[in-house]
Amino acid sequence: MRKALTIGEVLVEIVATTKGDGFLRAQPLIGPFPSGAPAIFIDQLGRLGTPCAIVSRVGDDDFGRVNIDRLRADGVDVSGIEIAPGESTGSAFVRYRDDGSRAFVYNIRHSACGNLRPTAASEALIDSCDHLHVMGTALSAPGLGQMVMEAARRIKARGGTLSFDPNLRAEIMDAPGLREAIAEVVEMTDLFLPSGEELFLFAPAGDEQAAVDALLDRGMTTIVVKRGAQGASLFERGLRLDAAPIAVTEIDPTGAGDCFGGAFLSFWLAGAAPRQALRYANAAGARAVTQLGPMEGASTREELDALMGDMERIAQ
Ligand code: ADP
Repeated sequence: MRKALTIGEVLVEIVATTKGDGFLRAQPLIGPFPSGAPAIFIDQLGRLGTPCAIVSRVGDDDFGRVNIDRLRADGVDVSGIEIAPGESTGSAFVRYRDDGSRAFVYNIRHSACGNLRPTAASEALIDSCDHLHVMGTALSAPGLGQMVMEAARRIKARGGTLSFDPNLRAEIMDAPGLREAIAEVVEMTDLFLPSGEELFLFAPAGDEQAAVDALLDRGMTTIVVKRGAQGASLFERGLRLDAAPIAVTEIDPTGAGDCFGGAFLSFWLAGAAPRQALRYANAAGARAVTQLGPMEGASTREELDALMGDMERIAQ
């Protein structure tokens, strides 16, 4: 089976349990939950039984261990997570405003992952994998970004494949070298996983189909547009599939896009039909929002089958 790799920040998240204006009103806080977009993504792949690994760096602390233990238990190869004595694992605090939007306090500027550099273990891991998943946020950090680019070139040169979730936020767009890195990643991308309007950042066009066609012309084979509570759409040359959203009660949207992407990739790498990959990914994204905690909503195949089975029974 083909093995997938991602490279990026592993952190813990502390989550407010009530809505409120300010952290003191949003008490009590719970956690620490294992988190970090690349970690959530790869955990979802591991839970679905796809061979996978992550390259990251954590401190020699409980925040690092909570991540390593979870990822290992879910089947992820953690040999590429370096433990750095005297450094700290990153953390983030999340609360919900009264209107449902999220406010974050990040503590990752000086995290151990910021000092991630190639090691013998990470190089060996990169050479053992056939697919790389790239997160836009990873490209904005200098050392990390460079490692991701080198891994991408190596895996593609060996005939491997690449997926790209831009996950671009306004505050990182001016990072030095980010635009050049993104342009190179787009040329190497086989599977593209943008969110809604993000698509148009990569192909300015009058409508979605024109934007998709422009990207397919540049060599992408599959484009899946995530639409939050509106479901998702898949595009390949001459093919469009739409997945209606699964009706769920949203508890915590953090991690939905990563669980969606991880589930899609799991089926895509296994050579599943596009319709099946989209169906399972749509269910994985929906189930993710029903669980409090970013990685807590990553699903097993049985959990996805149960959710889809429930939906079919309700529809009858
Ligand atoms: P991102 O965080 O990357 O923007 P989305 O929020 O679009 O990702 O979520 C990814 C996918 O998860 C969606 O395309 C959809 O399939 C599913 N999803 C997300 N939120 C909901 C929801 N509230 N109800 C049902 N499905 C959802």
